[in-house]
Amino acid sequence: MAPPKKYLNYIGGKWVPSRSGKTFPNVNPADRDDVIGFFPESGAEDVSLAVEAAERAFPEWRLVPPPRRGEILLKAGLLMKERKEELARLMTREMGKVLRETRGDVQEAVDMASYAAGEGRRLFGQTSTSELRDKFAMSIRMPVGVTGLISPWNFPLAIPVWKVFPALICGNTAVLKPAEDTPLSAVELVRILEEAGLPKGVLNLVHGGPAAGEALVRHPAVRLISFTGSSEVGRLIGEHCGKTLKRCSLEMGGKNAQIVMDDADLDLALEGAVWGAFGTTGQRCTAASRIFVQENTFSRFKKMFLERARQIKIGDGMKKGVEMGPLISEVQRKRVHEYVEIGRKEGAKLEIGGGPARGKGLDKGSFYPPTVFTGAHPKMRIMQEEIFGPVTCLVPFKRFEEAIRSVNDTAYGLSSSLYSRDVNFAMKAIRDIEAGVTYINGPTIGAEVHLPFGGVKNTGNGHREAGQTALDIFSEWKTVCVDFSGKLQKVQIDVDELKHEAAENSDTPTSRSQGPGPHPA
Ligand code: NAD
Repeated sequence: MAPPKKYLNYIGGKWVPSRSGKTFPNVNPADRDDVIGFFPESGAEDVSLAVEAAERAFPEWRLVPPPRRGEILLKAGLLMKERKEELARLMTREMGKVLRETRGDVQEAVDMASYAAGEGRRLFGQTSTSELRDKFAMSIRMPVGVTGLISPWNFPLAIPVWKVFPALICGNTAVLKPAEDTPLSAVELVRILEEAGLPKGVLNLVHGGPAAGEALVRHPAVRLISFTGSSEVGRLIGEHCGKTLKRCSLEMGGKNAQIVMDDADLDLALEGAVWGAFGTTGQRCTAASRIFVQENTFSRFKKMFLERARQIKIGDGMKKGVEMGPLISEVQRKRVHEYVEIGRKEGAKLEIGGGPARGKGLDKGSFYPPTVFTGAHPKMRIMQEEIFGPVTCLVPFKRFEEAIRSVNDTAYGLSSSLYSRDVNFAMKAIRDIEAGVTYINGPTIGAEVHLPFGGVKNTGNGHREAGQTALDIFSEWKTVCVDFSGKLQKVQIDVDELKHEAAENSDTPTSRSQGPGPHPA
């Protein structure tokens, strides 16, 4: 194995170390002896340099025609597509999810590149009417300025790209602070954008942990923070942005649920539940951590689910046939296990899993087996709090309405799913579930780049990433009016005055002969 490399920050088009010279290691979660590289441990000084570079680049970048910006993004997408396998392997090594999934992560970045590039030829605003004559009205999108982008580790390329590409196509410049557990994918993204011709300073990369993130949030020249991560950190960021009136988009945790009705296609519901609960080792914000199954189907479904979960092959995501990789780190494994202990103490029944995964080579990484509880009460912490691991609860219910109430009985509201053949249940679920995303006869996971993505309640603060709605995060609306009457026109007031004038004039014989009166011009 080659010795670990030293990686750098990217500021103003140059690769530079952190001012302190300190670094942190990036370790393969499937094999803690495999140190991938050392990355700069950045602080406020590094963040300031990056923000200043982004500030310098902004006046020119905002004037680059959006279709030209789009060409750079498209080229970056094509380069990512060309290097898909290489990027996926590197991502599996630093993040742990299986190759099939890291290929999907790269594909999502490619898709976002083409979607955002296309936006360069749209960025539609609205033309409108005016209540006054000889006046043209429209609203157009303006860039916000320097943006601060903070991402988590579970989608090392897709989540940074969901922020970087919409930010850039709208004419903003950016400082990206990726998660400290997956910094290499961010380095590759920047290298690709550099190769695609992105001008210096338009995107800057600062590695590090909470200190770097906090410095970015607090920097007064940063006009917008786009954050994806835990609700705890999101709340801190939201508080600061609230105080300083900084624009802020927060995508946070979830406690997602799948409902299986008695009339569902059970095989389909089973595959959906297994993928929803254990895909990405349960480390998805949309993971199905509560599965509600109608009472006549419950024991059959439980048997099928446990059987299938037991068969899941755990191991190094690079290896063929492996279905589930490790958790991101030992810290995360400890956290997941603590939740399992809490569940046991609260009185839920542990059906399978619930301890370090055993098997050849598994002691070298942060592996944890598929873990399933039954007998969990809705108010238990394992039913309320985000675990972010391969742990789920199977819960029976009698009536559809009861299931909907249980699904909504959490502080979060990201994703949800219903398996049923009955269109009436489907339509009611769409109407009544409190979540940003509802899938019918599909698992809780499966975002597409052209569809708005985000959640309600503690999951978000009202924005939606991806789709057209991402543009509303990364641009400011400007209303524009062009008055070509050549005189002062007063909205709301002229209309009344003209009516009065007309009334007064209607008392004179001459005005009567002039017809209905003057136009409000
Ligand atoms: P995290 O909140 O610990 O960290 C996220 C990012 O914030 C990292 O880059 C981290 O360095 C940075 N950070 C930490 N403290 C900070 C601070 N005080 N100020 C500024 N930045 C700070 O989350 P994580 O463990 O990386 O990711 C897991 C969480 O992300 C889960 O809760 C998951 O649900 C959530 N997530 C949400 C979505 C979504 O779209 N809703 C998508 C993926 C992940």
